[in-house]
Amino acid sequence: MAKVWFVGAGPGDPELITVKGQRLLREAGAIIYAGSLVSEACTRWAGEGCIIADSKGMTLEEITGWLIAQTAQHETVIRLQTGDPSLYGALIEMVQPLDAAGIESAVVPGVSSAFAAAAAACESLTLPEVTQTVILTRVEGRTPMPEGESLRELAQHKTTLCLFLSITLLPKIREELLAAGWQDDNPVLVVQKASWPNEEKIVRGTLGNIRDACRAEKIASQAMIVLSPTLGARHWAELKRSKLYDSDFTHRFRQAENH
Ligand code: SAH
Repeated sequence: MAKVWFVGAGPGDPELITVKGQRLLREAGAIIYAGSLVSEACTRWAGEGCIIADSKGMTLEEITGWLIAQTAQHETVIRLQTGDPSLYGALIEMVQPLDAAGIESAVVPGVSSAFAAAAAACESLTLPEVTQTVILTRVEGRTPMPEGESLRELAQHKTTLCLFLSITLLPKIREELLAAGWQDDNPVLVVQKASWPNEEKIVRGTLGNIRDACRAEKIASQAMIVLSPTLGARHWAELKRSKLYDSDFTHRFRQAENH
């Protein structure tokens, strides 16, 4: 029976798709991809004769209509999404019409751009006794934020914040973070086109100057903003060690040396 796969393409580097995603692209009869960030993965891994469409300029109904139509001809049909399909990917809006049409579907996860940005800059989003929590969110733009999820409220926890879809809203981000008790000299990381060979840009700055720094680098889209008390830890002289590697710490796989 024909099946539609929602496949996470990863953040851009075609080699950051999963092995399963790559196999499905090779087997697919038809692929529709979301925007320029993932087109390279299709053209690199799709099999010969595969139908490839760009959904740019299509409505959600047109995309699901396309997917449904393709299942009449092909066993394996793919919707290729940037990063991981569970984040800001309109997954449920596409799955519902497939359910209604009685078409089977499944999801293959992908490397989110939040993790590609951390990797690009060699940053850890969690550090022992600094922060153990990561909030994946966005700033309110045209899409309203549900109650209790304003950046001002979320930032009060002083955890790591990864902001999607928000690079044009840096002044608002600064305003909200200052209101939540952050300081202008707190570090900020912006990565544009994380993992893209030859196109990735890494900008480091502070809450006070990141907007100018991004402007100077002409970064106005396709960027991940990371705000975290862990940023720059690679260069810290003092670091609390993770308990996992502490010789006093017994865990499932290892007996502590002193016991
Ligand atoms: N599902 C995707 C997110 C889609 S929303 C994921 O898991 O990454 C689109 C937003 O993701 C962009 O506005 C940007 O904030 C971020 N993004 C996607 N790819 C990116 C990349 N390669 N580098 C930096 N940010 C990226």
